[in-house]
Amino acid sequence: MVLEETDTPFKDVEYGSFFSFRPQKRRVTYHLDEQVGNYHYGDKHPMKPHRITIANHLVMGYGLHNKMDVYSPRKATFNEMASFHREDYLDFLQRVTPDDAETYADTFQNFNIGADCPIFDGVYEFSQRSAGASLDASRKLTQGQTDIAINWSGGLHHAKRAEASGFCYVNDIVLAILNMLRYFPRVLYIDIDIHHGDGVQQAFYESDRVLTVSFHKYNGDFFPATGNFDENGIKGGKYFAMNIPLDDGIGDDQYTSLYKSIIEPTINTFQPSAIVLQCGADSLGYDRLGVFNLSIRAHGECVKFTKSFNIPMLVVGGGGYTLRNVARAWCYETSICVDESVPSQLPKDTSYYEFFSPDYTLHPKLITKIENKNSPKMLEDLRIRALEQLRYLGSAPSVQMQQIPPDLTGHLDEEDECLNDEFLDKVLDVRVNG
Ligand SMILES: [Zn+2]
Repeated sequence: MVLEETDTPFKDVEYGSFFSFRPQKRRVTYHLDEQVGNYHYGDKHPMKPHRITIANHLVMGYGLHNKMDVYSPRKATFNEMASFHREDYLDFLQRVTPDDAETYADTFQNFNIGADCPIFDGVYEFSQRSAGASLDASRKLTQGQTDIAINWSGGLHHAKRAEASGFCYVNDIVLAILNMLRYFPRVLYIDIDIHHGDGVQQAFYESDRVLTVSFHKYNGDFFPATGNFDENGIKGGKYFAMNIPLDDGIGDDQYTSLYKSIIEPTINTFQPSAIVLQCGADSLGYDRLGVFNLSIRAHGECVKFTKSFNIPMLVVGGGGYTLRNVARAWCYETSICVDESVPSQLPKDTSYYEFFSPDYTLHPKLITKIENKNSPKMLEDLRIRALEQLRYLGSAPSVQMQQIPPDLTGHLDEEDECLNDEFLDKVLDVRVNG
């Protein structure tokens, strides 16, 4: 079942004020643009939007779409994307075609167009679809119409204000968080992609209303070469960026215990009103570009743990370059969101069944592993440093952790209102109650 944007699947919502009863099971919405998987970056390019189509087929093969409300979002508008991106950059993406390389040679360089971020047919529309789904998801969350909103075509965390980067052109995450900040005082952003979530960090680097936490491989060289521990925010956002730099080959137990031991105190200290979880699947073992040894179960454990705090959550995709594992992981994580346990044996009637040969399971065994260079001491040091950072964050004088700023609750306008610069400044600079 695909509901149109205007449909209201939660007919009982209007009675919310009469009955404070809330069902125990979390309401989950799935924001699915059926066209988004049809774009091609190029034959040799590792980013394959088709992985989203495969993931959707698995989700439906297991019948998980019956456990949530599925929406067909509209594309993000130019103005919505301009709430973060510079207009000349969007204008360029909108006009350029793959044949324009010579005409736009200088501009290509300015906007970091090249081998990693090529101009392919429909690059603007692809970005509109990915961003449109994250914005749609954020609207359902801010309107209290869902508890968990999923967009696997989102998570394009490297895109900058006027620059493509790391296969990302439009930063759907930043757009969604900006929308969420109109209603929620604090948003926690967590990134488990193998790459540093640099675009999101940079967008909110001076803000104490968004705490970004990124777990990633770091050695000063691995893309995007940022994300060392000492990058922790500036000005009013000092301490509101946290980075957990890891080395090659980290495995399930080390990763999940580090994740839990950092995320739990982070949530308790920051008290976010909403969480955005970027589930980049290139942190899985056997990823074409990755160097970690995580199983799909361990990756999903991070989703399960984050969900256990019962805080409104936007779940997005991200990297992931071994297609069948990306589809497996995001399907498994959808099952976690809807509280359904699914058998490891994949449903035989899915369109892409043969793709999962020879094991045809949701949880294939990781046999060959990359050497683990993360010592217990190194991880313990990271944990201690993270907790120390939280101490500073907790004592930041301008942040009242319990209250919603009244000046922001007034911005419950129609969904399409675009954020002008003045409003953005206010959203990002206003200290909560300060
Ligand atoms: Zn990545």
